[in-house]
Amino acid sequence: MHYLDHAATTPVPEAVADRMVEVLTGQFGNPSAQYPMGREAAALVENCRAAIAAILRCKANSLVFTSCGTESNNWAIRSALWQGRHIGKHIITTAVEHSAVLEPLKALSQEGYEVTYLKPDSRGNITAQQVFDALREDTALVSVMLVNNETGCVFPVEEIARGLRERKSRALLHCDAVQGFLKVPCAPADWGVDLMSFSAHKIGGPKGIGALYVNPALKNLRPLLFGGGQERGLRSGTEATAQIAGFARAVELRMDHLSEKLGRTYYIKAYCRTKLLTIPGMEEVSDGTAPHILCMSLPGYPSANIVTDLGEQGICISAGSACHKGKASHVITAMGLPKRTAAGVIRISFGPETTHEDIDALYEALKSHQANRFPML
Ligand code: PLP
Repeated sequence: MHYLDHAATTPVPEAVADRMVEVLTGQFGNPSAQYPMGREAAALVENCRAAIAAILRCKANSLVFTSCGTESNNWAIRSALWQGRHIGKHIITTAVEHSAVLEPLKALSQEGYEVTYLKPDSRGNITAQQVFDALREDTALVSVMLVNNETGCVFPVEEIARGLRERKSRALLHCDAVQGFLKVPCAPADWGVDLMSFSAHKIGGPKGIGALYVNPALKNLRPLLFGGGQERGLRSGTEATAQIAGFARAVELRMDHLSEKLGRTYYIKAYCRTKLLTIPGMEEVSDGTAPHILCMSLPGYPSANIVTDLGEQGICISAGSACHKGKASHVITAMGLPKRTAAGVIRISFGPETTHEDIDALYEALKSHQANRFPML
């Protein structure tokens, strides 16, 4: 098998799985329980929180565990708007956010909010100036992702945060950093971002655990889930101790020689790009500079056929985001690519484990797909 879909999810290293089993079987106490096993579980959660926060250079108590990136995004958006309810009902976002941002915003637009969707250029880029130009007195929320999951484009979140401060905007800034964490610089507190979303399964952690960074200056943040008052009352629900331990272990493993791992990933991406561009007609679709995502197109060859054909040969890539399940990608549509190019877009995404053999197998499979299929006109 050649797994080239690390932006969809990542393999879980054995050390992460082992740590989770250890917690599931040996340290299964409820962190709210008042006896030693409960206190031990609570300490475990706090140690994991502190370890992840240290990497983000933020205070441990500004990080709240959630069930996934989707929950973090939904909560961040709803709570920011509640917090800014006296400011107004205008929201700025990009047309290329993940559906975990776009769908809650769609629901909000049915509740009277007005959403401005910034369009990317034809290479997938968004500028900070676009945000500033769209800013209004009644803008309560700006939500811009750090790395686009389909194009690998890195958006200028730090510059946006600085610009909002300089303009004395009252809008809160949320950033979906699910694809950016441990791939590109990411420091919410240093940057002055108010809310930032994370997910463990994009960095070798388990599925079903995420986190939200919350600027400590935000008082009275409204929870999304009400109940037992866990996570300092911000996110009720018994803490997923094994998942949290797996998340922290995955972060620790990634952090070990991280710059070497990222350097290798950049190198593998460059190798893949150069090799695939020798296939007649192959185009690079975006300027994505994230190390782990390469967005290409074979115009005339529908991506759904490519993905299925390659999948049967054990090569896993994706046609745009795996979350779209075959629907036309809103990201590629927003970039305004010619129809034939848009229809042929494939996303290849890499991890520290990706090898030259994986890329060589992909290259051969794409060449044989091209040789054996009639192109669409
Ligand atoms: N945001 C981005 C940019 C993503 O790529 C994803 C997952 O693909 C999510 C959010 C959703 O994260 P989760 O799968 O943890 O809900």
